[in-house]
Amino acid sequence: MNKKFSLPRGTSDILPIDVTLWGSIENLIRQKLNQYNYKEIRTPIFEETELFARSMGQSSEVVAKQMLSLTRSDADNKEKSGLSLRPEGTAAVVRSYIQNGMFKQEGLSRLFYFGPMFRGERPQKGRLRQFHQMGVEAIGPNSASPYLDAEVIALAVNVLKSLGLNNFQLKINTLGTAKDKGVFARWLKERLKDCIDHLSEASQQSFHENVFRILDSKEPEAQKLIDSLHLDHSYLSDESRTYYAQVKNALDILNVPYQETPRLVRGLDYYTQTVFEISDASLGSQDALGAGGRYGGLVQQLGGPEDVEAVGFALGIERIILALGDQERSPSVLDIFIMAMEEGFLDHAYALLHQLRDQFPQHSVEMNYNVSSMKSQLRLANKKNARFVLIIGKDEAESNAVTVKNMSTGDQRTMSMDHHMQGLKDFLKNN
Ligand code: AMP
Repeated sequence: MNKKFSLPRGTSDILPIDVTLWGSIENLIRQKLNQYNYKEIRTPIFEETELFARSMGQSSEVVAKQMLSLTRSDADNKEKSGLSLRPEGTAAVVRSYIQNGMFKQEGLSRLFYFGPMFRGERPQKGRLRQFHQMGVEAIGPNSASPYLDAEVIALAVNVLKSLGLNNFQLKINTLGTAKDKGVFARWLKERLKDCIDHLSEASQQSFHENVFRILDSKEPEAQKLIDSLHLDHSYLSDESRTYYAQVKNALDILNVPYQETPRLVRGLDYYTQTVFEISDASLGSQDALGAGGRYGGLVQQLGGPEDVEAVGFALGIERIILALGDQERSPSVLDIFIMAMEEGFLDHAYALLHQLRDQFPQHSVEMNYNVSSMKSQLRLANKKNARFVLIIGKDEAESNAVTVKNMSTGDQRTMSMDHHMQGLKDFLKNN
């Protein structure tokens, strides 16, 4: 027997029954983004590995352990191509922003993306190797504004609300400027250095590479230790303190409730000032629906002008679908199903099929190429949720007619083929 293939681990098929839900989620998200005047950008699903290393940090969990890199298939060239599937959207959007000189436009570029992301993580519920994100990036020269940070946070919250989610928590924090981050890192290291030996190897590695990641750790030992530090914002400069107060004020104006969480730092190097995360406790251990924040130096770090600032977020679509729970999946509906009752009428039915697809562009039309009894063809029509069935049987063929049946009411009418298009249009309209 030939080998049967299965999905690669950590990926999933989105079957037709689920595509309807995916489509409506995407439509609602697009509507919300349109309200806020965000424009879609589509970048390739792979980029230079170095782009991700430079933006997320070589030592970040994603770059160090989860990158899915590409190799060429020709025998002599099995080494890595220097390209990787994108693990997130920000780096590519910023790369494109710089490459296309968008910074020359006056003001802010409000951009959004929607698509698959790839990370070689250990798969579990809510954690896939191919998953989908929608994300926004508001990028522009001298664009740092607490109002904009609050707008972006409110947009994330409102996207989730528009999808029918309400039981999520928004956590916010500030990291301060890059300089403040340095002070905070030294403060943390000073306090952690005597107890770091009690933590796991991973935490010890974080201590040396990027001490903030210890704050992200889910290990109970690390959590206890962090609790004992009673984190506050003592490391912040006055400038950052004021900025943070203004972000909170702007969120209050927008009536967006938040929980201040001083230990929220986000594992990636590029964040400065505002950071936020949205979680839903019903999701269990993988409870983040999305996250984001401001990244002051990223554009410059990727070769763009110094004064360009950005703020953004990404939401995980699979997590949103998990949080929505068992939504009713509406079965697909077929508008018109054509059935021929004898082989000899197939040509006729086939011509009608193409005529209908031409004349009824809003309707879905299909025909059964396998002639069988009326009963079994009607059963098939029911399975397909057909709204109308067009029957071409002996009587119809002899009188050059077609019988139209409304499958929900059972009403049916035989119409002359000479006038059937207008007759059909009227019948469909009135049923
Ligand atoms: P991150 O860039 O890691 O902050 O991810 C942003 C959002 O994408 C998370 O809050 C999740 O909702 C989603 N996400 C991240 N990684 C995965 C994954 N491996 N599988 C499914 N969703 C993910």
